[in-house]
Order: sequence, then C-alpha cells, then structure tokens
Amino acid sequence: QAKAQGKNCYVVHNAELLNEMMDEYMLEVDLRKALENKEFVLYYQPQIHNNTGVLVGLEALIRWQHPTLGLIPPGKFIKLAEENGLITQIGEWVIDEACSQNKKWQDAGMMPVKISVNLSTQQFLTRNLISFMEEVLERTAIDPAYVVVEITEYMAMEYDYSIQVLEQLKTLGIGISIDDFGTGYSSLNYLKNFPIDYIKIDRSFVSELMNNEKDAIIVKAIITLAHNLHKEVIAEGVETKDQLDFLKNHQCDISQGYFFSKPLPADKIEKIYLVQR
Ligand code: C2E
Ligand code: MG
Ligand code: MG
Ligand code: MG
Repeated sequence: QAKAQGKNCYVVHNAELLNEMMDEYMLEVDLRKALENKEFVLYYQPQIHNNTGVLVGLEALIRWQHPTLGLIPPGKFIKLAEENGLITQIGEWVIDEACSQNKKWQDAGMMPVKISVNLSTQQFLTRNLISFMEEVLERTAIDPAYVVVEITEYMAMEYDYSIQVLEQLKTLGIGISIDDFGTGYSSLNYLKNFPIDYIKIDRSFVSELMNNEKDAIIVKAIITLAHNLHKEVIAEGVETKDQLDFLKNHQCDISQGYFFSKPLPADKIEKIYLVQR
C-alpha cells in the first residue's frame, strides 16, 4: 500500500515537474515577444513623507499584461528575464517609461515627485548603463533630481566597478537608494563607501515591528545609523497605523506600503495622489 502510494507520488511529481517546465518554456517564448507587443506596464506606489504627509515619491513596479494569462507580477518573470538576458532591454524600457511619465506629469503642472526604478544585477553591471541614462535624461528632458535608482546587495559583487558606476550616476544628478536593506550581506561596508542617498528598510523588519522586539530594535538602529551617515530612510511594506506611528516616533523619513496604497496604474495615481502646483 505504502509502496503504491509512494510510486504514485513519484509519477505525479514528475508530471508536475514536466508541466512546470512546459509553462516556463512557453512563458519564455511569450516574454521574448512582450517588449515589441508593448505588454509591459508600470504601476506606481506612493512614498509619503512622515512629517508632512506629502507625497514625495513613486516607486515604479513592472507588471506584464499577458494576452491570455492576465496581469503577471514581476516575481513571476524577472528571474526568467535575468536568466535569458532579456532583463537589460526590459529594464531600459522601465527607465524610459518611468522618466517619460514623470516628465508628462510635471509638464501637466503637477507638484513634482521623485520616480524610483529598480535596477537588476545584470542591468547594473551592463557597460552602457550610464550612457543609456544620459540619453534618457536628455531625450525626456526630465530633471535628474526627480529620478532615483534602487539597487540591492549585488553591487558588492563588483566592488570597485560598482563604486565607479554609482559615482557616475551621482554626477548625472540621479538619486541612489539601497533596496531591501538588511537582508543582504556586507551592507555596512557599502554604507560607508558608496554614494547613497536613501536606505529602504526591508519589509520583513517592518511587518513584525509591533510583535517582535528584535525587529523593533533593528529598525531603530537602521534609522539612527542612516541619519548619522546623512542618509534618508524609507520604510517599505508599511501596512498598519501602529507601524506608521512607530516609524514616525523614531524619525523614519518616508513610508511606503499598503497602509497608504498598493501600486497603481498611472491614471489612478494621477487622479488620487497627484496635485496641481
Ligand atoms: P521591491 O523593489 O522591494 O518592491 C516592493 C514590493 O513590495 C512590490 O512588489 C510591492 O508591491 C510590494 N509591497 C509594497 N508595499 C507592500 C505592503 O505593504 N505589503 C506587502 N505585502 N507588499 C508590499 P512587486 O511589485 O510584486 O515587486 C516585487 C519585486 O520585483 C520588487 O521588490 C523588485 O525587486 C522587483 N521589480 C519590480 N519592478 C521591477 C523592475 O522594473 N525591474 C526590476 N529589475 N525589478 C523589478
Ligand atoms: Mg524596490
Ligand atoms: Mg524593496
Ligand atoms: Mg523587497
């Protein structure tokens, strides 16, 4: 009996694996066409200044409007795009779209906000990142003071090269943010040596803030550390009033999370959050 069941499980497992491989293969075929078919969209999540309640930034987050599967979140295709090298092109589209959209809003007379884009490992290490950035800044005519890039611990992999790229981004006038802070390794090292403007406290510390004393201690320490190094702190994944109050009480600068809003398409952001100058 047990043996039969075991065998049965084995077969099912294999069939599932095969299905998964087929799904991934088909997804990859579709992904290759997604750019030219204009199937990617950017959603934007508000970043709110804790003292004033004013909208100061928007994080651009990619989604894939798949013709039959519907709206696919980045968690389902970014890794695939990284594996097959499509990520650089997709990432360039993101930068272009985010800057163009922000400029459109500014030209329409909205109070200016900063737009943040996430850079993938490959994109960050691509040799032409800086020239691409220059080209986009020039073509869209966006003030670089309203552009921020979010990077993670991968920049530690090519230490000297990374510093060089970050310095060049700073020279262009672009802001730099460390995403998911506290989850990677050697984070303190790059706080010291890399030209960083913002630290984003990872959602995993914020979500347990009220029930786990250790998370509270870590969050407080990150805020103090960041401020002493003259960097601003953004808390990600703020979902409750209690979390927000804690963050405000401990001088965290900016909050982002479902408590304020989920990421929304551009037209909704414009209607709900942007205000005329
Ligand atoms: P991330 O950069 O850390 O972005 C924050 C993620 O947390 C977003 O998920 C956002 O929707 C989600 N989030 C924000 N507030 C809350 C909250 O209060 N509660 C919960 N449970 N979640 C919250 P999303 O949009 O699915 O993006 C996931 C990740 O995919 C991003 O993490 C980022 O690493 C990556 N990603 C998104 N867009 C791009 C892109 O254009 N290029 C690259 N390379 N990566 C991207
Ligand atoms: Mg991010
Ligand atoms: Mg993040
Ligand atoms: Mg994250």
